Amino acid sequence: MKIADVTNLTHKIVNGDRRALARAVTLIESTRKDHQQEAQTLLSNLKTAQKQALRIGLSGTPGVGKSTFIETFGMMLAESGLKLAVLAVDPSSTRSGGSILGDKTRMPLLSRHPNAFIRPSPSRTALGGVAAQTRNVAELCEGAGFDVIIIETVGVGQSETMVSDMTDLFLLLLAPAGGDELQGVKRGIMEKADIVVVNKADGDLKAEATRTAADYASALRLMRHASDCPEGYPRAMTISAVENKGIEEVWEAMQELTDWRKETGVFAATRLDQAKRNFRSAVSDTIMQRLQKDPELSERWKSLEETVKAGELLPDAAAARLLDHLFTSR
Ligand code: GDP
Repeated sequence: MKIADVTNLTHKIVNGDRRALARAVTLIESTRKDHQQEAQTLLSNLKTAQKQALRIGLSGTPGVGKSTFIETFGMMLAESGLKLAVLAVDPSSTRSGGSILGDKTRMPLLSRHPNAFIRPSPSRTALGGVAAQTRNVAELCEGAGFDVIIIETVGVGQSETMVSDMTDLFLLLLAPAGGDELQGVKRGIMEKADIVVVNKADGDLKAEATRTAADYASALRLMRHASDCPEGYPRAMTISAVENKGIEEVWEAMQELTDWRKETGVFAATRLDQAKRNFRSAVSDTIMQRLQKDPELSERWKSLEETVKAGELLPDAAAARLLDHLFTSR
């Protein structure tokens, strides 16, 4: 693609052209070097025109109601005139090369709404690759003028850290359950949550949902003395995604938290911190890619790996040798 074409694509995206946006996502997700360069040019072009979106991380194990929540919550935002993007980071979906269920099935109304853009998890195998791509697609959506970007992940360890590294606030979605459930949620995930949302607070499950939220509220108080939250946060709330109850309250809480973070400078500081970390991981990802793609270096990699396996060299020494070679030979 010529520079003029990238400029043209940028204009189209800024003007809300969905096909151009989808094309840009394809560029970002491409492994071809020329596509990667074009994607970077495009993202830099968009950066100048950008307004800030609110990036929301949403995590929860399968079955808690993430799709139902996004459908209800997303429709509320889209109907109020806000532009919303939904991205997924799901390492397990790399097996099928897309989302587990089609988005039209998961979010039938939202997927057809003109204010919504839904993108399933990219299909690269390495979690690091998925992270970089999702981060870039989030940048793209922000540059394209979206107001809210939801980054969804299935609650499995590493992906939460990744998602909280690219979002402004983090929601943990849970289903009603007794005290045992509390043990099942990893401490690391609880520590990242700004708002714990207990879904399915309806019918027979209502009382249990209220109890679960109270349990989490006290656990959060004990666990987290957050300097990045105002009084009363992190907090636990109940909703019913199917009955559309409590959804507005969750949105109000998100806005209250975001306003406080913007006023106190926490919002901007977090983004700067994330940029620094992203720079660092981009450096190490690029080094890894160079090592693996270069035939001579990857040969050297393999033979050094053998010497490590045979116990002839310590891993640190072998790594130093490989990197010495990279930096002196290039
Ligand atoms: P996901 O796997 O986290 O995306 O969960 P889904 O949104 O697919 O929901 C899993 C199941 O829980 C479905 O059968 C939903 O109908 C049900 N569900 C979702 N939200 C609610 C809710 O608010 N109340 C009740 N009772 N069921 C719900």
